[in-house]
This record gives sequence, C-alpha cells and structure tokens, in this order.
Amino acid sequence: MTSLIDQFRRPLRDLRISVTDRCNFRCSYCMPADVFHDEFKFLHHDQILRYEEITRLARIAVGLGVVKLRITGGEPLVRRDLDQLIAQLTSISGVEDIAMTTNGFLLEKMAQPLKDAGLARVTISLDSLDNDVFRRMNGDKADVAPVLAGIRAAEQAGLTPIKVNAVVQRGVNDHTMVDLARFCKDNGYVLRFIEFMDVGTRNGWKLDQVVPAKEIIERIDAALPLERVEGNYYGEVAERHRYRDGGGEIGVIASVTQPFCGTCTRLRLSADGRIYTCLFALRGTSLRDPMRAGATDDELATLFAGVWSKRKDRYSEIRTEETAANKKIEMNYIGG
Ligand code: SAM
Ligand code: SF4
Ligand code: SF4
Repeated sequence: MTSLIDQFRRPLRDLRISVTDRCNFRCSYCMPADVFHDEFKFLHHDQILRYEEITRLARIAVGLGVVKLRITGGEPLVRRDLDQLIAQLTSISGVEDIAMTTNGFLLEKMAQPLKDAGLARVTISLDSLDNDVFRRMNGDKADVAPVLAGIRAAEQAGLTPIKVNAVVQRGVNDHTMVDLARFCKDNGYVLRFIEFMDVGTRNGWKLDQVVPAKEIIERIDAALPLERVEGNYYGEVAERHRYRDGGGEIGVIASVTQPFCGTCTRLRLSADGRIYTCLFALRGTSLRDPMRAGATDDELATLFAGVWSKRKDRYSEIRTEETAANKKIEMNYIGG
C-alpha cells in the first residue's frame, strides 16, 4: 500500500467523518446556545455529503493508508438512518476499526441497529453525573438519565469496550470528576477526561479554565489509586492509567498541557466534504465539489495525497491565548 507521509513524516491513519453540523445539545464549550440559536444557518441538505459520497471518499482514504474510521459531528445520531452509512463503511476492505463519538441521547434506540450494521465501538460524551451540572454544560437540553440508558443499550448490544469522554472545565464540573470515575470504574467503562480546548472561536476559552491532566490524575489518584500504563500504539492520544486494585483504566487527553501533534495521524472530513488536516485548521479543501463535477477516484486520491503531503500542522504545540482567539473552524463542523 502507498505510504503517505506529511512534512513531519506522520502517516495518514485515521479519518474522522463528521456526518452533520447539527446537534440536539448546546454544550457551552462547543456550540454555545447564544451563537447556535434557532436562526443559526446550518448547512443546507444539498451541501451535505450523501452516504454514498462519504463512503466513496472513505474508500479512497483507506487506499492511502487509513485504517481507522470514526463517525462524529455535530451529533451523528441526529442524522437519519446512520446504520446505513455504517453498513456501507463496513464493506470497505482494509478498515480495521469503525467507531463513533456520540452524546448518547438517541443511542438507546440506535445501539442495536448500529451494531448489526457493523459498528465496533462507541464513545459516549458525558461530562458529569450530576444532573444540574450536566444540564448547565449541555445548554439545558438533556438530563443524565437518557444518556445512561444509551450507554446501557450500547453495552447490551456489544458496542464494547464502552468509552466515556468528559470535558473538564474548572469551576464547572471538576468537582464531579471522582464520582464519574467511580461510576465508570464500577461498570467497566473506560473514562477519558479531556482538557477543555480552544476549538472554534465561540466558546470564550481561557487557559485558567483548563484543569491540567496532571491535576486531574492527581485528584482521581487521591480517591482511587492509579498507576501509569505505557502507551500502546503510535498516535494514541490518551495518557493511560490503571487502577491499582485491578478495576480497569482511565485516561486523560492533555491536548493543551501535553500536546501530541508529533504523532497525530488524523484527517478530518467535514459534513460538506472538505478535508482538514488539523482540528484547529483555518481552512479545508473541498473534495465534494470536484467529486460532484465528475472527478475520478484517482483524481480524488491525488487531491487527498496532495493535502496530506503538504501538512505541517502542530497547533497544540504552539498554542497561546492569542492564537486561541484566531479564527478557526468550529468543532461541530469538523467533529472532535
Ligand atoms: N456530539 C458528539 C459528542 O458530543 O460526543 C460528537 C461530536 S463532539 C464535537 C466530539 C467530542 O468533542 C466530544 O467528546 C466533546 O466533548 C468534545 N469537545 C467538544 N468541544 C470541546 C472543547 N472545547 N474542548 C474539549 N473537547 C471538546
Ligand atoms: Fe453537540 Fe457534541 Fe458539541 Fe455537545 S460536544 S454541542 S453534544 S457536538
Ligand atoms: Fe493533530 Fe492539530 Fe491536534 Fe496537533 S493540534 S494533535 S496536529 S489535530
């Protein structure tokens, strides 16, 4: 297979596919309700890639070295018949792993169809088990209970190991971290705490709202003793720790305080068919337009390869509060 590398010799391995820019939540750190209000202009139906188009681009990316696909958004489950996309993606030979990141609100009903279509695993975002804290963080859109029902349905369907993502914001939910850790530990879910990032331009990010990964681990360790696990593959983003009593593991994604750009192998495909080489990219390259204008697979592969081979992104390594205020693409648009 072609070995495609970027300017820092990083191979292309992962494709994160955003299937919609819409979401049923309004998390303050991602799609704050005052910006993403009722009149906000989301992408129009015709602008969004059809499942066949996504599958075609994914197949071409796999031909260039991609082995992992992750479905994200916006909220992927607000897009209708998502299991049909999963079934199409599963048919691509060479894909080693298909996963999805979801807020879990609509997962209870969809878990089994997704599993049947070939989805391997899900990551559910749940920032706190405290209902008031959770509602405050998701823009007053949802209680904890339906998300827990979604997690249980995913577990029953065999979308395992279940991973839970929690963004930590100082003074907002950091006092509930230990409860969430205990809950995940007791249920055998792998919890990943994520440092609050300056994605997009609309979440009013400030460095003092970030709880550094080191502090997160110290606070969990004080209640539930931990030991470090060495990373197990190139490009792994989470720093992993295991409970000393053998009760599973927990991780931290320290994109702010310990950036991992050096091994970043991820390419992002937005809902409207642009590719972005970094979560913090300023612009993307449309593959939808050439595709709809009749480009062949080879021509599209050349476009993919051209974008990756020029890639120099290392945003998290050079971040400051000033760069954080720069114009960047919004997270709901290209996926986390
Ligand atoms: N809606 C789905 C969900 O919430 O899981 C998928 C898309 S969401 C953009 C993907 C992940 O990005 C979620 O786990 C979310 O918590 C995380 N995320 C969003 N904004 C973030 C921020 N400012 N800092 C850190 N993580 C963030
Ligand atoms: Fe929606 Fe996920 Fe962003 Fe929250 S983090 S607003 S659930 S896309
Ligand atoms: Fe990859 Fe960009 Fe994140 Fe660095 S900042 S790890 S290059 S997505």
